[in-house]
Amino acid sequence: MSLEFSRRDALKLGGAAAFLAMASPGSAIKSVMGAEPAQTATPTGLELPETYANGKYTLPKPPYGYDALEPLYSERTLTIHHGKHHAGAVKGLNDTVDKLEQARKANEYGEIKALSRDIAFNGSGHVLHSLFWLSMKPGGGEPSEELSKAMAESFGSVKAAKAQFDAATKAVEGSGWGVLVYEPISRKLLILQAEKHQNLAVWGVVPLLVCDVWEHAYYLQYANDRGSWVDSFMKLANWSFAGQRYAAVRRLMTG
Ligand code: MN
Repeated sequence: MSLEFSRRDALKLGGAAAFLAMASPGSAIKSVMGAEPAQTATPTGLELPETYANGKYTLPKPPYGYDALEPLYSERTLTIHHGKHHAGAVKGLNDTVDKLEQARKANEYGEIKALSRDIAFNGSGHVLHSLFWLSMKPGGGEPSEELSKAMAESFGSVKAAKAQFDAATKAVEGSGWGVLVYEPISRKLLILQAEKHQNLAVWGVVPLLVCDVWEHAYYLQYANDRGSWVDSFMKLANWSFAGQRYAAVRRLMTG
């Protein structure tokens, strides 16, 4: 199975399956669709490390110490967020994959509505949290020249792109995420609000940088002051990571 096939396949799946498959081509298709695993292909740069191994989704360690983002993101907040919330999504995803396999074997789909919701909720939670740890680094990171140019073309300037990301994320209604994406039809960047990550309304997008504004992400440290948390996130934001993903998706999707 070629990468190109995986990508088109992922686009056809839509919704959560597409979201998973775009972030981790091959493995998600196997797990969500019950198909044979994709052949190992040349790395695209879009893989999320340590998120899947030996037929199971796995919890990736943040690429820095639990105290490395202090004081903007406390050790206690990161430890609980990663060890309880993200770990819970990984467990829920594996459990749901097993239940879906049992349902297929028994040809018994009485629980399909709940299971489909569970795979979207836990699958998106796993993908977004895996991206989220990489979307921050101590001291933050600047966008590459290539990403800077795309930000300027899409939003007017890098400064305007960051201002829109900041404003959109602060204005997410209830729980959710601010998400910078590459939109392949216009070949431009968009900034989206994901209200509850199980509600996937835009298909075929590739998340490049994400900010978690579920209450569990910041409440221990920032209480109800989401704005201060987003202010801190903007200082930790790893735009160089987003630039790597942007370069990779351009190679993968547009040649
Ligand atoms: Mn979270």
